[in-house]
Amino acid sequence: MLPTIESKLPQVGTTIFTVMSSLAAELGAVNLGQGFPDFPMSDQLVSLVARAMQEGHNQYAHMNGLVALREVLAEKIAGLYGTLVDPASQITITPGGTYAIYTALTTVLRPGDEVIVFEPAYDSYIPNIEINGAIPVRIDLRFPDYHIDWDEVRRRITPRTRMILLNSPHNPTGAVLRPDDIEQLRSVVKNTRIFIHSDEVYEHLIFDQIPHQSILRYPDLLERSFVSFSFGKVFHCTGWKLGYSVSSPALMQEFRKVHQFNCFSCHTPSQFGLARYLTDKESYLSLSAFVQQKRDYFGKLMAQTKFTPLPSYGSYFQLYKYDRISDESDKDFAIRITKEYGVASIPVSVFYQSGKDDKVIRFCFCKKEETLEKAVERLIKIS
Ligand code: PMP
Ligand code: GLN
Repeated sequence: MLPTIESKLPQVGTTIFTVMSSLAAELGAVNLGQGFPDFPMSDQLVSLVARAMQEGHNQYAHMNGLVALREVLAEKIAGLYGTLVDPASQITITPGGTYAIYTALTTVLRPGDEVIVFEPAYDSYIPNIEINGAIPVRIDLRFPDYHIDWDEVRRRITPRTRMILLNSPHNPTGAVLRPDDIEQLRSVVKNTRIFIHSDEVYEHLIFDQIPHQSILRYPDLLERSFVSFSFGKVFHCTGWKLGYSVSSPALMQEFRKVHQFNCFSCHTPSQFGLARYLTDKESYLSLSAFVQQKRDYFGKLMAQTKFTPLPSYGSYFQLYKYDRISDESDKDFAIRITKEYGVASIPVSVFYQSGKDDKVIRFCFCKKEETLEKAVERLIKIS
């Protein structure tokens, strides 16, 4: 007799990103669903990684990440946010942002802990909470600008609240935190045992000169926070799966205990390449304008369609209402336009456990201009 497995995540199916990308591939649709660029990443960064391999940097890197890479990240943090972070004790290189998030949550959470999570929520958060036996406390961001209702946060805090999860720039909505949100956060967590996890994987992809409200700007908040980043997202190489976590020395020490026996260390040549690449500040300072231009180009094209945009201030994404076209559910609509018009998107209701459907779909605009043009030529035909 074989043992039967009792699922630790009984509610979890296949992620919508895989579902929509598979459908797009099967139907030959333009894929504006899953968030990944379809244009080449920096040649220079590719060459730097190749050079690192040729130079023989092909064995295990330091468990916490290549020292030179952590040092250049600490310089970047000091330059952008004015905070001095110790590369030896406060930064750990991880195999992607997803892993950094999972490790941070696993480091802190125990069964029965409550975690405040805002919906629509990136799809890994709730399973990451539940696998640790903790309880997600879901709060809807306020439609249509997706701001945080801090009064509701205050009402939902209990003695068991252990963590608040933030994400700015936000996936899927493109909303960003403002200085007032930070003030509210500070007042909510003051004198509590609440930790913060801040998902900042779209750190450099923020538009209209809005300053990114990184938790790294606020040393008092960083003391109780883990902040997760993704090289894959910002440098247009999502397949690299490389990122990092920043925290206080005390929290990072515990994070590393979990990391040590999970992945131990990350791809060495990429770390060498990035350490050299990041010495040129333009490598990251140029990113916002580059991606903003894509947002604006897509927006201009989309003005010819019957879709109505919601604002996007950051990330790879923009939400569009389709109420002038149909009253179908967002899932039915997204699937139908993939099948009938050959453009894949992501229905936003999947990011709510309740399936709340505001009839908006998410498009990824971080694509070649010709891809955006091809998609919009098809979307124009929808009446
Ligand atoms: N958080 C958010 C909000 C994301 O959109 C992504 C995108 N993949 C991640 C985390 C994960 O980043 P990575 O691909 O580096 O794991
Ligand atoms: N973050 C990407 C998105 O939102 C997808 C990453 C993934 O497929 N897990 O589209």
